[in-house]
Amino acid sequence: MKALQYRTIGAAPEVVAVPDPEPGPGQVLLKVTAAGVCHSDIAVMSWPAENFPYEFPLTLGHEGVGTVAALGAGVSGVREGDAVAVYGPWGCGTCAKCAQGKENYCLRADALGIRPPGLGRPGAIAEYLLVDDPRHLVPLDGLDPVAAAPLTDAGLTPYHAIKRSMPKLVPGSTAVVIGTGGLGHVAIQLLRALTPARVIALDVSEDKLRLAKEVGAHETVLSDAGAAAAVRTLTGGLGAEAVFDFVGAEPTLRTAGALAAVEGDVTIVGIGGGALPVGFGSLPFEVSVAAPYWGSRSELIEVLNLARSGAVSVHTETYFLDEAPLAYERLHTGKVNGRAVILPNR
Ligand SMILES: [Zn+2]
Ligand SMILES: [Zn+2]
Repeated sequence: MKALQYRTIGAAPEVVAVPDPEPGPGQVLLKVTAAGVCHSDIAVMSWPAENFPYEFPLTLGHEGVGTVAALGAGVSGVREGDAVAVYGPWGCGTCAKCAQGKENYCLRADALGIRPPGLGRPGAIAEYLLVDDPRHLVPLDGLDPVAAAPLTDAGLTPYHAIKRSMPKLVPGSTAVVIGTGGLGHVAIQLLRALTPARVIALDVSEDKLRLAKEVGAHETVLSDAGAAAAVRTLTGGLGAEAVFDFVGAEPTLRTAGALAAVEGDVTIVGIGGGALPVGFGSLPFEVSVAAPYWGSRSELIEVLNLARSGAVSVHTETYFLDEAPLAYERLHTGKVNGRAVILPNR
């Protein structure tokens, strides 16, 4: 089969032929209908060889949707032909976190060498994807595969981040979304669907701010050195009860800290490598800072339910598998508006 692989440190990923995977006991083979292209892969491909945590070559793609093509021995609960989305942050399935569906925080994944598809294990940007266990699959139940694939990360990750702050996002409150790309433009829709908060979007690109407005942001602000002051002005000096930074770089985190309200939340979602100092006087009183990762299995089910109700739709542009390197190049240069989705079997 064909797969998109990252094969050389620092080089662009390539479409190559690899052996067809076969499901072992307990595993499920999916024919991939759609796979999302995530900005975090760009970060992965920028890591130096000595810090690269995964085996080479790496088939990319941690947002996958497909139809069940074959079942390994002993698999029950899904049938051939079922259309499913893949829950990506695989865990051991049995520790205290996994027992709550929080496989993203599995306490044993590292020790057991369990990795998500596309982030260690062969990923979804390929004709077929091997899934370790049917519990990682959520039925699409009528959702369009292209629309659904990005929901498994670009939907689930902001959903999980927003849920943490929902008690603070009461009527009259303000939520700020920094970086309105793949995850950010979904975050705006989720905030509108889940909370009565006023949503202010920040980005360095006018194009992305236009998309932010289209998907429901009440206000947009160009993300520069004056952004925090602009948000203070828009909020009568109070700042934002919740700030979601989908960039996570030093300058955006500085902005996030500077525009948080007293007792506000700053949530660092982007993996831009920045840090936000927390100490007495460095932030407004009792600001809470967290850096969550992905989301739980039950939250993915909730996100898909929300999408089915029409409350959230990902802005997508589609590519054939042979064009996947181009999708990464466009993402890298900031040209993708919304989410790029690969169609490996078309
Ligand atoms: Zn991702
Ligand atoms: Zn676990």
